[in-house]
Amino acid sequence: MRRPWRTQRIGSPGDVMERSEVIVIGAGIGGLAAALALQRAGVQVRVFEQAPALGEVGAGISISPNGALGLKSLGVFDEFRDVAYAPDRQVVRHYQTGRVLAHVSRGERLEDTYGERYYVVHRADLHRVLADAVLANDPAAIVTGHRFADLQQDGSGVSVRFDNGEWKRAEAVIGADGVRSRVRSTLFGAEEVRFTGYVAWRGLVPIEHVPPDALDPPSQVWIGPGHMINRYPVRGGKLLNFVAFAERSGWEDEGWSIPAKVEELAAEFQGWHPWVTQVIAAVPEKDLFKWALCARSPLMRWVRGRAAVLGDAAHPLLPYLGQGAVMAIEDAVVLGRAFRQAADMPEALARYEGARVGRARFVVERSSLQVPRFHSPDPDSFRHDTPVDEALGLFGYDPAVVPV
Ligand SMILES: Cc1cc2nc3c(=O)[nH]c(=O)nc-3n(C[C@H](O)[C@H](O)[C@H](O)COP(=O)(O)OP(=O)(O)OC[C@H]3O[C@@H](n4cnc5c(N)ncnc54)[C@H](O)[C@@H]3O)c2cc1C
Repeated sequence: MRRPWRTQRIGSPGDVMERSEVIVIGAGIGGLAAALALQRAGVQVRVFEQAPALGEVGAGISISPNGALGLKSLGVFDEFRDVAYAPDRQVVRHYQTGRVLAHVSRGERLEDTYGERYYVVHRADLHRVLADAVLANDPAAIVTGHRFADLQQDGSGVSVRFDNGEWKRAEAVIGADGVRSRVRSTLFGAEEVRFTGYVAWRGLVPIEHVPPDALDPPSQVWIGPGHMINRYPVRGGKLLNFVAFAERSGWEDEGWSIPAKVEELAAEFQGWHPWVTQVIAAVPEKDLFKWALCARSPLMRWVRGRAAVLGDAAHPLLPYLGQGAVMAIEDAVVLGRAFRQAADMPEALARYEGARVGRARFVVERSSLQVPRFHSPDPDSFRHDTPVDEALGLFGYDPAVVPV
């Protein structure tokens, strides 16, 4: 669907609204990747973000080969690689003894097999790469301080209302507003966001405060009863990122992503190997946050009329296969390709939904199934000769070539 870029002022009853071809709600990794993919397809995009300024909470994220292929097709791979770290291997260790339970090959072998390798990166760095590319295409493409409230559809487009009272109009709307998506509730009905029983802490430790022995190799996963910790360097090796998981019967704290206390995390991992406890003790409290991991029922439909959902808004998943952001990137690449190939907007959205729902559902289900392996009461029984993400075939999906 090739259209000239345009911005029009159009009249509507009692109001004058700025019109863009597609409105994206949410400037997270999913929303920005979607905006970039649509721009590359020749579509004019406006991204509306609720936060007053653009940014991401600082922590690391892994990008498996399928995500790296997606970034390549979005044209930002070189910029991404400049800020990412590419481990050759990872090890899985026993929580008390430190014994290596599995060696995981993440380097050139993956590149030879899938066309790309495995990366880890600071979320804020990936976010900036995507935002810079979107703004380079169109300096007015991202609008902050706009919280989506509601939308109304008719035969020719969608009118979007924001909490500040402003209205905008577009030919289609993509809701990339995360696990607590209001776009999703507006399209498919209000529904509870459930606490899954898992809590995650994310922290960043200056690498000079980490015992050198604990960095061989730099990328390591530690598993123990009801707990797991995954850690790897980011920011050119200056910081060691960790994400630590624990099981909880409830979540009473205010908010879903909140500053955390080192003391609380240290208590959760008491009795673990010193290479874990020393890393936890070294995290500056300003760089420690905790998340309640949430779920919503899987959606079989992602499109209603001229509006669709993408990323966590469509398919929130547990992060045990490290695929949430990767899946949002896959969604975005396929969305852009659907817009290129379709004759009109409804066909583009139908192609996007048709190509993505099954894949997302598979990854969501498989991510949940990993919990018993990574929180095992008997880590010595851990078998991982072929890493499970690779064994599931997740890396063999190239969003730039799958049928759309
Ligand atoms: C502990 C943890 C570890 C993870 N590790 C990995 C990993 O290693 N690899 C990986 O691929 N994934 C990982 N993930 C998953 C990944 O972080 C998410 O899947 C991904 O960030 C989803 O991106 P998104 O853009 O869909 O949503 P989000 O990142 O949630 O972005 C949504 C955006 O929408 C905005 N917004 C929300 N509501 C509104 C509104 N009403 N109006 C306007 N804007 C709004 C928000 O402010 C935000 O900017 C992890 C997740 C967790 C919790």
